[in-house]
Amino acid sequence: SDAFLSVRDLRVRFSTEDGIVKAVDGLSFDVERGKTLGIVGESGSGKSVTNLTVLGLHNPDTSTIEGSINLDGQELLTASERELQKLRGNKMAMIFQDPLTAMSPYYTVGRQLSEPYMKHRGASKKEAKDRAVQMLEKVGIPQPKLRFDDYPHQFSGGMRQRAMIAMALMCDPELLIADEPTTALDVTVQAQILDLLKDLQQEFGSAIIFITHDLGVIANMADDIMVMYGGRAMERGTVREVLHTPRHPYTWGLLSSMPRLDSDVDIALEPIPGTPPSLLNPPTGCRFSPRCVFKDQVAGDLCTTVTPELGEGRDTACHLTSAQKQSIFIDKIQPR
Ligand code: SF4
Ligand code: MG
Repeated sequence: SDAFLSVRDLRVRFSTEDGIVKAVDGLSFDVERGKTLGIVGESGSGKSVTNLTVLGLHNPDTSTIEGSINLDGQELLTASERELQKLRGNKMAMIFQDPLTAMSPYYTVGRQLSEPYMKHRGASKKEAKDRAVQMLEKVGIPQPKLRFDDYPHQFSGGMRQRAMIAMALMCDPELLIADEPTTALDVTVQAQILDLLKDLQQEFGSAIIFITHDLGVIANMADDIMVMYGGRAMERGTVREVLHTPRHPYTWGLLSSMPRLDSDVDIALEPIPGTPPSLLNPPTGCRFSPRCVFKDQVAGDLCTTVTPELGEGRDTACHLTSAQKQSIFIDKIQPR
């Protein structure tokens, strides 16, 4: 396939005082060059863990990881910390929700942009500074030459977010992972940052994984969507397929609880009652079964005994038949 990043049967487990947490449990997905995969789900769905694992930022002492993460032909799960460090910031970079997670308060913004560039690219101080000023300008920081010597606290929240994007883009990464990158910003600034990310993607052709719980943002940003729940993928497809003809009971619930969805989808479900499953003792069978109001339409006790698998491409992990999914959506979900 064209996949730049290919994740197969990823399993991430953490040891805690209470037992083993199955944070990600058999997850497969692809991201193509120049495309954006939106990963949506509530907190605890495994979306952030997945991406920290892709970046090799998990704690090896407390976590066990199985499966395969292939980035442009290189297997990351067997890569050394040294190799991963080389890839991070260079071939792949992360944009966090809080810029202060990525930036140190003690160094100037300019230094934090240029040092990794000198290290990864063997650039001189002057080359690195020129590049940093150029990137600050590109992300819309006024007077970038002057702001180069500012500390992060001298930037506004929106400007810091822009500076972090500049930092992530310094080495021209081919994969950008953005984890709720605009959640902390007000709506106007959020829209500006999202536009900026889209423009930069056009210019640089990076693949993006965009993690959010906001389906309105996803509708605007992503090409493809993967819906996660309880450490597994529930539904996958293009933005159009997943948002306009969702076929999984969890996605139906999720869409109904998203008032900001700015599309013509009209969904009449109530927010999903209940809470996400414990990943210490996940429900047997379908992870969503304790909260699913449609499980009595599935024959026998399949929903609580057999874990539904998600296939390749457009698919849902659900035991309802295709005809049932379609008719429930048309009869109960879509019209108001
Ligand atoms: Fe609901 Fe069963 Fe489908 Fe899970 S597999 S979403 S419990 S109908
Ligand atoms: Mg998170």
